[in-house]
Amino acid sequence: MELLKQRIRRDGQVMAGNVLKVDSFLNHQMDIRLFGEIGKEFRRRFEGCGINKILTIEASGIGIACIAAQYFDDAPVVFAKKNPTKNIAGEVYTSKVESFTHGRVYNVIVSKRFLGPEDRVLIIDDFLANGCALMGLIDIVRASGAELAGAGIVIEKGFQEGGRIIRGMGVRLESLAIVESMSEEGGVVFRG
Ligand code: 5GP
Repeated sequence: MELLKQRIRRDGQVMAGNVLKVDSFLNHQMDIRLFGEIGKEFRRRFEGCGINKILTIEASGIGIACIAAQYFDDAPVVFAKKNPTKNIAGEVYTSKVESFTHGRVYNVIVSKRFLGPEDRVLIIDDFLANGCALMGLIDIVRASGAELAGAGIVIEKGFQEGGRIIRGMGVRLESLAIVESMSEEGGVVFRG
């Protein structure tokens, strides 16, 4: 998605530790007009897939998913909660996710009331790095008996292994910008 790539080139900052900082428009301050264009692009790519629910993970995925949902017949957005405490077994789907940016392991949970076999799910998230967050969400979709239509990612870091693993699982993965390489001196180079 050209508009997104231009914005990353202009405002993205390459940080130490393979972190791309895009907090001026994507995951701290949020450019809602850009989010609208991102939502339209997800709809274009998943048109006709019968999506009736969008699943994301707190916190950064929520804003993007909410704006995108407007282009999917107002499908409800469910966000997985990162929960450090124990939950009553039976009421929630759970999965473990190791955070790339914080290095912590979270238990993520989704209430069984909000995801089930009647759902056709699109997963949306801001970044794909090693794939832990996405794999946790995929686990939850599978446990619920819902059908996974695919995953829409805003920025995939193609030099990390998540994309290869998720595509290798046969999941339809659509990333709007794939970073081939990045460095503090050379900036960001995109795939394709
Ligand atoms: P993964 O689980 O695929 O390793 O990492 C995905 C999660 O880590 C995303 O939900 C995102 O919040 C965070 N993340 C991964 N890489 C980056 C990055 O380069 N920049 C930022 N801002 N967040 C990242």
